[in-house]
Amino acid sequence: MIARSFKPHLIAMLSASLLVLFSIMFAGTGNATADLYDVVVLNGRVMDPESNLDAVRNVGIRSGKIQTITTKSLKGRMVIDARGLVVAPGFIDLHVHDMNDEHHRAQAMDGVTTALELEIGAADIDQWYAEREGKTLINYGASIGHVPVRMVVMKDPGTFVPSGDAARRPATEDEIAEIKRRVELGLKRGAIAVGFGINYTAAASHREIIEMFRLASKYQASCHVHMRYAGLKEPMNCISAFEEVLAAAAMTGAPLQVVHITSMAFDDTPRVLEMIREARSRGIDVTTECYPYTAGMTRLDSAIFDGDWRGQLGIDYKDLQWVATGERLTAESFARYRKEGGMVALHSMKPELVRSAIADPLTMIASDGILKDGKGHPRAAGTYSRMLGYYVRETKTLTLMDALRKMTLMPAQRLERRAPIMKAKGRLRPGADADLTIFDAERVIDKATYTEPGKYSEGIKFVLVNGVAVVKDGQLQLDAKPGHAVRAPIQ
Ligand SMILES: [Zn+2]
Repeated sequence: MIARSFKPHLIAMLSASLLVLFSIMFAGTGNATADLYDVVVLNGRVMDPESNLDAVRNVGIRSGKIQTITTKSLKGRMVIDARGLVVAPGFIDLHVHDMNDEHHRAQAMDGVTTALELEIGAADIDQWYAEREGKTLINYGASIGHVPVRMVVMKDPGTFVPSGDAARRPATEDEIAEIKRRVELGLKRGAIAVGFGINYTAAASHREIIEMFRLASKYQASCHVHMRYAGLKEPMNCISAFEEVLAAAAMTGAPLQVVHITSMAFDDTPRVLEMIREARSRGIDVTTECYPYTAGMTRLDSAIFDGDWRGQLGIDYKDLQWVATGERLTAESFARYRKEGGMVALHSMKPELVRSAIADPLTMIASDGILKDGKGHPRAAGTYSRMLGYYVRETKTLTLMDALRKMTLMPAQRLERRAPIMKAKGRLRPGADADLTIFDAERVIDKATYTEPGKYSEGIKFVLVNGVAVVKDGQLQLDAKPGHAVRAPIQ
C-alpha cells in the first residue's frame, strides 16, 4: 500500500525535475544573452603575477567582476581586441597625495586603477570618503594620518605638511591622548592603514610614535612610514630612523611599510634593504616601496630643510628645482622661496641605486605623486609606464612579470589583512574585480618631465575600473565615474 501510493508521487517529482532541467538547457542554448558578457577582452597576452599565467586568453567580464579566463571564444556587449597587447591586473598605487580629477586622469592614462593616500593620509576618514563617493574615475582609499591628525590637534597652520607647532613642538600628554583618540576613530571608521611622516613632525617623541603603532597593531593596520631622518650622517641617518620604526613594529606587532626607500636612504639603500631582508627572515612583517625616479619632491617650507640639510642629504642649492618655475635654486632664491612656501624637487638619488632598488624582489612600486594645475613631480603621471617602458623594455632591469607583481599583487597583499576587499584586486582570476590595464609592451613609455609633469603616458590602450572603460583606444573616458571606495570594514 505504501509503495503503490508513493509511486505516482515519484513520477510526478521526476517529471517536474526533467521539466526544470529542460528549461535550463533551453535557456543555455536557445537564449544568447545567457552567454553574453558585459565586456570581453579577446586574444590578449594575459599576465597574472599570482598564478604566473602568461598566455593568450579571452577574458569575460560581467557585473564588474572577471567571470572567466579561457581559450574558448566569448561574446560581449563591448568587445576589446587585445591582439598583440598585454592584459594585466590594474596597477595599484599605495602612495599618492592630494587626489583630484586631474591627478586621477593622468594616473588612469598611466594604467592605475586604484590610488591610495597612505603615507600622509587623512584626518577625518568619513569626510575623506564622502567627498569622493560616486565621483571618481578610479578606485580610492586613505589611511588615518598621524601627520594631519597632529596638525588638527596642535592647530598647525600648514597645508599638507606642518609648518608650525605640529612640526616643531613636542605634544603634551593631553595632546597625545587626543591624537590617539582621533587615530583610533579613523581606524574604527575603516581607514585602511596608519600614515606617518615623522620627518615632517620631527618634534614627535619616540613614545608618541610607539603609541600609534600600538593602535595600528590592535586593528591589524599597516604603518606606512616616511621615516624620521633621511640621509647619511650618523647618528640622525636613515639607519637609525629605520631602527626606530623596526623596533616599534617588532614590539607592537604592527605591520610596517617603509615608504620611498631610495629617497630616504640614498647611497645606504642597499644596506637598509638588507636590514629589511634580515628582519623579515626573523618573522617581522616589514615591506618597502620606491618610485622609478632619481629626484624627490617636497615642500620647501617643511622641517626637512631645518638645520644642516645639505650635509644630511649630500646635496646643494643647485640640486633643488623650484617646481613653480623650473629654476635651480641658489642660497638667495632658497631663502626667498622658503618664506613663500611651495614645492621643490630634490635631485638627490644616483641612477644605479634607483635601478638596483627597483630590481630588488623586496620593493613594491608606488608613485608618491602630486599633480595639480599642471604642477608636480613627473612620477604622478609617469611612474607605471616608466617601469614598463624604461626599466623593463629599454634597460632590462627586471622582467615584465616581476614589474607587474610589484605594481599589482604585492600592493594588494600588503593591505588585504586589514582590507579584505584587496583580495579581489591585483590578480586576474575568476571572481576578481574587473580592474584591468591593457597596454602595448613595445610602445608603452612615460612622457611626463620635471618641467611638464602632467603629460600623459603613451601605450596604455585600455583601462577598465570595475568593468567600466576609463581609457578606450588610448583615449580618456571623461564621463566615467566607476571608482569604488577601498575601505576596511567599519566597526
Ligand atoms: Zn614621503
